Amino acid sequence: MNIVKEFRADYDAYIIGAGPVGCVLAERLASELNLKVLIVEKRNHVAGNCFDTYHQSGVMIHRYGPHYFRTNSEEMVQYLSKFTGWIPGNYIVKSSVNGELYPFPINLLTLRKFFNDETLDADGVEALLESKRIKCENPTNSEEFVLSRVGKDMYETFYLGYTLKQWSIHPKDLAASVCGRIPVRLNTDERYVDHKFQLTPDKGFTAMFGNMVTHENIDILLEADFGSIRNSIPKGRLTIYTGQIDEYFGHSHGQLEWRSLEFEFKEYDQEYIQPCVQINYPKEHDYTRTVEIKHVTGQKHPHTVISYEYPRAEGDPYYPVPREKNDAIYKQYKSLAEQETLNNNVYFCGRLAEYKYFNTDEVIDRAMNTFYLIKSKYDN
Ligand code: UDP
Repeated sequence: MNIVKEFRADYDAYIIGAGPVGCVLAERLASELNLKVLIVEKRNHVAGNCFDTYHQSGVMIHRYGPHYFRTNSEEMVQYLSKFTGWIPGNYIVKSSVNGELYPFPINLLTLRKFFNDETLDADGVEALLESKRIKCENPTNSEEFVLSRVGKDMYETFYLGYTLKQWSIHPKDLAASVCGRIPVRLNTDERYVDHKFQLTPDKGFTAMFGNMVTHENIDILLEADFGSIRNSIPKGRLTIYTGQIDEYFGHSHGQLEWRSLEFEFKEYDQEYIQPCVQINYPKEHDYTRTVEIKHVTGQKHPHTVISYEYPRAEGDPYYPVPREKNDAIYKQYKSLAEQETLNNNVYFCGRLAEYKYFNTDEVIDRAMNTFYLIKSKYDN
């Protein structure tokens, strides 16, 4: 990686943020369009929230929360394979309720345990759930969504407390998409997600994104705030902004809500502590979940590290908060952003810039789309 110490105004393109969007776009612009690119990053590393690093114990950790890479796109796997090898994704999550571990997302095994009936099969479980479901044709919020899928008992056991802790907002005030991210399965598939490809970069995400930005056309300025260089970028020069959209526009339409997280990492003098990578605590503790990422990284080490995740109102922005008042504010910023693209050649891409929860594969897809948009202008 070519780390530079100072800003210069003679690059063909500027990318604000060295997360997945920034790295993919830098790579595409540099290798496909032969542009000279400067990435400006506020933190002291690339890879954004996918950043993984070594804890003082030598155990690899996901510093900003676990990333379970998955995609249905073979093309995306092929693209990323230029920068990494892979190990199979081992994404198993359980939910801890009254000292018992239940498979999560809810599947047939969860239901058997919950209803204390080992004979439940797919047909029996469908009939049982049908009797529990609270009908709602078009759920407009997370509470309606979950009630219409699994009924009140399981909603209150697995979702209500966790969601209140995670968001400090009642599920009935959160968009259906929040809890709708989690599948409900009537078979015994215990994987966290359903995607065709569930793979983890064999040397980690930081290495994968780092390899992406080693191209000779790419320079990286670390620990530099956008505000400090903003006025030095020549007007009209291609810029990709991946930071918070409300901040870019000086909060002129008000503040968007963001949810933050705090992580506590604890080392243990044994190889593993948990039976799987993630345990959720919908009813106990102040933290939402504990993560032992060794289950996913496959690292062999005599010690282990557990991360405890505490949701916070203040701090770095992790999650947009999908509820009506924010949707209305975002719409106004979005139309400013569209003007900014047209008038000043600034593109807005990614979770913070589009105020939308994207998984890593989704955000890479967004970056690719932005690249094609930019490329179409260079082709003309
Ligand atoms: N959720 C829940 N119980 C759980 C796990 C998740 O109620 O045990 C809800 C919660 O509102 C959470 C959302 O489902 O914010 C999405 O969960 P996911 O695991 O995808 O959250 P992320 O990993 O993105 O924080």
